[in-house]
Amino acid sequence: MPDYYELLGVPRHAGPEEIKSAYRQLALKYHPDRNPGNKEAEEKFKQISEAYQVLSDPERRQLYDLYGEAALHGMDLGGFGAFDDLFRGFGDIFEDFFSFGRSRRRGPTPQPGADLRYRVTLTLEEVLRGVDKELVITRRAACQACQGSGIQAGSQRTTCSRCQGRGQVASQRGMLRVFTTCPVCRGEGTVVSQPCGACRGSGTVREEKKMQVRIPPGVDEGTRLRLRGEGEAGRFGGPPGDLYIEIRLAPHPLFTLKGKNLVYRVTLSFVMAALGTEITVPTLEGETRLTIPPGTQNGAVFTIPGQGLPEVRNHHRADLLVEVALETPTHLSPRQQELLREFLRLEQESPPQTSQDRRRRNQ
Ligand SMILES: [Zn+2]
Ligand SMILES: [Zn+2]
Repeated sequence: MPDYYELLGVPRHAGPEEIKSAYRQLALKYHPDRNPGNKEAEEKFKQISEAYQVLSDPERRQLYDLYGEAALHGMDLGGFGAFDDLFRGFGDIFEDFFSFGRSRRRGPTPQPGADLRYRVTLTLEEVLRGVDKELVITRRAACQACQGSGIQAGSQRTTCSRCQGRGQVASQRGMLRVFTTCPVCRGEGTVVSQPCGACRGSGTVREEKKMQVRIPPGVDEGTRLRLRGEGEAGRFGGPPGDLYIEIRLAPHPLFTLKGKNLVYRVTLSFVMAALGTEITVPTLEGETRLTIPPGTQNGAVFTIPGQGLPEVRNHHRADLLVEVALETPTHLSPRQQELLREFLRLEQESPPQTSQDRRRRNQ
């Protein structure tokens, strides 16, 4: 599958209008109705439709820009697979383009399903490698017994006698004629003599669904992944909502985060820092050695490149920053005190040149 932007012939920074207009032109050219029996045109139409479906949706486009097509497919449980799928959610634009002018069927207005949010907490190790998560979501799904219509088999939807199917009733308030939602059919214009027993007429039932979701490496705190059509079922033929997976990062026992960099804090005695030493530093994958040069100051930061978290876009890994804190020793033994006094005496005889001294001299 070629690049979506190339398919539509638009630059990567193209705005929504530019994308829509490019798609419109191509769709008119390759639409199957205009190219009957032309397999190539059909394939092309499929591709540009898929490209448009992604690039016209800001969140989906962002995912595509971040993860590329492969990751998008991996995450999209709804899938692009079937040709018919491509037309889901295209109602508006096609009515617009081709004046399909579908006659509105009688009955209640289709209501889209609600979006759902699901929080997933990841460890930093999981962020590093990416992870497959099994989610169990509870959502409203179309009722099997009545296929979502809410009507008991054998029963029928009839025009509401109170509002004659208009969904609104008029009443006189002084000089004004006021229209309000019909209280009998609640604005739907129709009533059901016998609602479906399984869903009590709502057309939807609660279901628990397990799904496997691949979370790519390098996601951030607050990243939202969208699974289209995996939210609550719509009512009366309305489209289902979307499922948003919101990423949370669990606190790590050893590291804190500074952007994509990991920060590890290590405490050294001032003697070690003065003389220099080699220490073992934990990483997300194991450990590594770090040389602390002689004369290291409190607050010094050492960088271990490539041991941070990856970027989603290119998997390039940030760094591990080691922050040094110096510790003043307490509970000194008499011998240690003796040595430090000796040290102090030597220092007073020939004070080492510090940066402070130099600064003082320069003033
Ligand atoms: Zn039902
Ligand atoms: Zn009514």
